[in-house]
Amino acid sequence: MNAHYDLIIIGAGSGNSILTPEFDDMSVAIIEENKFGGTCMNVGCIPTKMFVKAADLAFDALNAERLGLDIEYKAADWPAMVKRIFHNRIDLIAAGGEEYRRGNGSPNVTVYDQHATFVGEKTIKTGQGGEEAIITADTIVVAAGARAVIPEWAQDVPHHTSDDIMRLERQPESLTIVGGGFIAMEFAHIFNSLGTTVRVVNRTPLLRTLDATITDRFGDIAADTYETHLGRTVDTAESDGNSVTLTLDDGTTVTSEALLVATGRRPNGDRLNAQEAGIDLREDGRILVDEFGRTTADGVWALGDVSSPYQLKHVANAETRAVRHNLLHPDDLVPMPHEHVPFAVFTHPQIATVGLTEDQARDAGFDVTVKVQNYGDVAYGWALEDTTGICKLVADRTTGKLLGAHYMGPEASTLIQQMITVMAFDLDLRDVPRSQYWIHPALPEVTENAILGLDLEFRGPQ
Ligand SMILES: Cc1cc2nc3c(=O)[nH]c(=O)nc-3n(C[C@H](O)[C@H](O)[C@H](O)COP(=O)(O)OP(=O)(O)OC[C@H]3O[C@@H](n4cnc5c(N)ncnc54)[C@H](O)[C@@H]3O)c2cc1C
Repeated sequence: MNAHYDLIIIGAGSGNSILTPEFDDMSVAIIEENKFGGTCMNVGCIPTKMFVKAADLAFDALNAERLGLDIEYKAADWPAMVKRIFHNRIDLIAAGGEEYRRGNGSPNVTVYDQHATFVGEKTIKTGQGGEEAIITADTIVVAAGARAVIPEWAQDVPHHTSDDIMRLERQPESLTIVGGGFIAMEFAHIFNSLGTTVRVVNRTPLLRTLDATITDRFGDIAADTYETHLGRTVDTAESDGNSVTLTLDDGTTVTSEALLVATGRRPNGDRLNAQEAGIDLREDGRILVDEFGRTTADGVWALGDVSSPYQLKHVANAETRAVRHNLLHPDDLVPMPHEHVPFAVFTHPQIATVGLTEDQARDAGFDVTVKVQNYGDVAYGWALEDTTGICKLVADRTTGKLLGAHYMGPEASTLIQQMITVMAFDLDLRDVPRSQYWIHPALPEVTENAILGLDLEFRGPQ
């Protein structure tokens, strides 16, 4: 089968969102070898947070004594959770998305369901219902995402990745997690709080890319919560059919019923035969794009995890909006929006961050002032009986500009939004505390106090 289209999109994660009504008069092919909705919907952001909500509740029950409550957490009904999250919601949405593209709702769109590879300039080999197809287009968007990296030592033993760990038939009694990044720490919280014994093995400190204050304090909390083996690498792995034993580089062995490998995600550019179409890759595997999303091949664009410096869904969405605009308005290109990119880690305690770390701000030569404000020093922190939550602000003393904001504690991902606004609208922090009310005694008072605690240069009466 051969066909030519105005536009081909590889990947129906963020790629599927390109198609607004402005594309209705174009012929479009979408190639998706897996499920519509991509990583975020099927195996990423959304299902993890649905498990995290349950884990948070279990954690609170297990720690309710500090509030004077006698609550007993008995167990998770794991199969019921899997059913609620996947069978009753996510799988239906993914199937609905595909049906919409295949059906009368999108008459100008053709869906191909087999792996896409480039076989020439703007020419792709794929397939439909088992039949091979060679298709071409004037314009191609590569939105092929990234995949979990499986280290060599894990390849011969039963192991899980984020792709399948949430669909296990039953909750394991014990789980070894190899990795210390966001995905590893979210699953550590989920399984530990739901009652699985969690063992974490990682080469470096956990969440090592965050501001050092957060990394250090999170490391202390994690060491009290999980069995941690840090600064260690895995030499070998063995399975006896019921459990997996890792032997670490110091000779220690770590045995659990199940193994989760969370050692990073590699962009899928290397599975596309991209060079055949003149599409260059960076050394780290990402497709090389310019600030507008153009690859090195004329008429071929890329967005999201396959090319972005950020593996985050809100960034993939923002890049999708930019590339969509650029496809529709070739004479008025807009750059990929990569400023003030925030993110959250839905572990325990929750973490959220935007902007520079203190070290980065000092290295960049700013006149740095820093305030670390404890949740426990504001009224709502007392209500929470919180002892570990912090808001750390990094600012420029002279200009009053916020350089970075780092939260660890309850509702961190929500609290930080005010500081994202401050950065996005370039507000002067000296105006922020008293130009608005702060609801008392709500948690944002931790932010108010943090700003007031910064050593900002006095501007005189305004
Ligand atoms: C466990 C986990 C938790 C996460 N949590 C968060 C979070 O809380 N917040 C956040 O912002 N981000 C989170 N992320 C990251 C987020 O999911 C990704 O950044 C985002 O989904 C990337 O979107 P994308 O469109 O670039 O790629 P994807 O959504 O991965 O879409 C790519 C699609 O292309 C298809 N494809 C790839 N190659 C081919 C080919 N050759 N032929 C045909 N089809 C192909 C794939 O099957 C896939 O469906 C998480 C990721 C994981 C794994």
